Amino acid sequence: MEHTTVIVLAAGQGKRMNTKVRKQYLLIKDKPVLFYTLDCLEKSFIDDIVLVVGEGEQEYCQKEIIEKYGFHKIRAVVTGGKERYHSVYQGLQAISWKNDIVYIHDGARPFLSEDMLQRAYDAVKESGACVLGMPVKDTVKIADESGFVKDTPNRAFVWQIQTPQVFWHDLVMDCYTRLMEQEKILLENGVKITDDAMVIEYFSDTPVKLVEGSYRNIKITTPEDLEIASVFVTK
Ligand code: C5P
Repeated sequence: MEHTTVIVLAAGQGKRMNTKVRKQYLLIKDKPVLFYTLDCLEKSFIDDIVLVVGEGEQEYCQKEIIEKYGFHKIRAVVTGGKERYHSVYQGLQAISWKNDIVYIHDGARPFLSEDMLQRAYDAVKESGACVLGMPVKDTVKIADESGFVKDTPNRAFVWQIQTPQVFWHDLVMDCYTRLMEQEKILLENGVKITDDAMVIEYFSDTPVKLVEGSYRNIKITTPEDLEIASVFVTK
């Protein structure tokens, strides 16, 4: 098998949660959100984990997550940046060992599974770049700047995108390096980078394969997500 490293992102502020505690440390049943994410990776075929945390949280994470729950695959803990893509770049730079495939995963998505990891592995070996997602259940509208409907895309072709997003190491390194070099120009042109696939789409010709994730693979973002999560944990 190829050597695989997962970058787990846990450096977000979680402002939409409206709590003092950052969302990755909130409890589902009696364990932090981040525990579930790392537990799945620890038990899987993944070789190494880079954990990206907020400024000043390294020690807390080391004691309260890594040591407390006995995770052994975390090879580096680094501090993230202002935007999600800055945190990813910090994570990529921490991979100092020989590595073939990089998974990038939101720490705030605790319902990862071995099946999803495997589907992504198979797809990335075939196409070099893939993202997990699911076809949307609702109709999606594109709005104009005044809040009126501009367009209604065919629902059969609209997916909501999740993580992990998975790439050959060299490809993702190269594209992210170019993103950081050209960040200012992109910002000036109003481009907002919201996922990793976008970076590959901008800076390479490699098509990004859509792989089935799960409707359970939710991102804990607002308080009601925690309620849903507590139901999933008991099942
Ligand atoms: O903010 P959002 O919900 O899109 O964040 C997705 C994931 O990226 C979360 O796990 C969050 O902790 C992480 N993130 C990060 N660094 C940032 C912003 C978000 O690691 N600057």
